[in-house]
Amino acid sequence: MHLGRVIYGKTTGGLHKKRKAAPFRMIPRENWIVVENAHPAVKTPEEHAEIVTLLESRRIQPKLARRGTYLLSGLLYCGKCGYSLQFQPKPDGRTLVKKCQKTDAFGNSCTNRGIELEHVEKAVMESLREHEAELLKTPVETGTSEIPTEHLLHTKEKELESLRDWVNRLKDLYVMGDVTKAEYKTRLERLKDLIVKKENEYEQLKESLDGCSPLTHAERLQLIDELKASWTTVIDVKERNRLMKLIIERTEYSRNGDEVNIHVKYR
Ligand SMILES: [Zn+2]
Repeated sequence: MHLGRVIYGKTTGGLHKKRKAAPFRMIPRENWIVVENAHPAVKTPEEHAEIVTLLESRRIQPKLARRGTYLLSGLLYCGKCGYSLQFQPKPDGRTLVKKCQKTDAFGNSCTNRGIELEHVEKAVMESLREHEAELLKTPVETGTSEIPTEHLLHTKEKELESLRDWVNRLKDLYVMGDVTKAEYKTRLERLKDLIVKKENEYEQLKESLDGCSPLTHAERLQLIDELKASWTTVIDVKERNRLMKLIIERTEYSRNGDEVNIHVKYR
């Protein structure tokens, strides 16, 4: 797009089950409609090539990184049998989702064919946008579960800080002769007890946050925002994959001929 080129007809139809759109189909590359100079180019093709080379050179161990992680790593499953699907990088830089490798007890292999990963990623992003629109339509739950844990965690952190501060101040008082040794000892013990208690509370709270507590409305929206931002900037694909896993539980892909079905299940 930055080259001023617009491509029409890569795919047709939609993935929306509710809105009875035409079925999602892929159009062969030779039938794409490519319009050069459809809008003013932001950069020349030469500049584009230069930028791509620069970005490539900045990557650490590009081959390793590319082999290891994809946007949908660990998230893509066969819509026909539920088996996890594998990716296959091509020498020209494209990536394929391999045909389902599952065979049943009788040696019959699953009929789900492969697809270019690009199409699946595009569909998933489209689904994310719809998910976002749905979230924005739903009123934010008020009161109880809206980020209080995060807030509480911060408060506990502050309390711990000030308790530790007190230990230092107590030491100063003792050194300056403002408190007796006995007084110093009892007050120090009391402070230490309090610190241990607060530390435990803090750890418990943190565990409940890291654990299976469901995402709040605001957290979901923030994740989608981050993902959308990562789409247009050069962010490590591993980081993008991490974000995806935070909001998406699994994505199922199935294909019958050119008809493609992609279902995204959110956390
Ligand atoms: Zn399968």
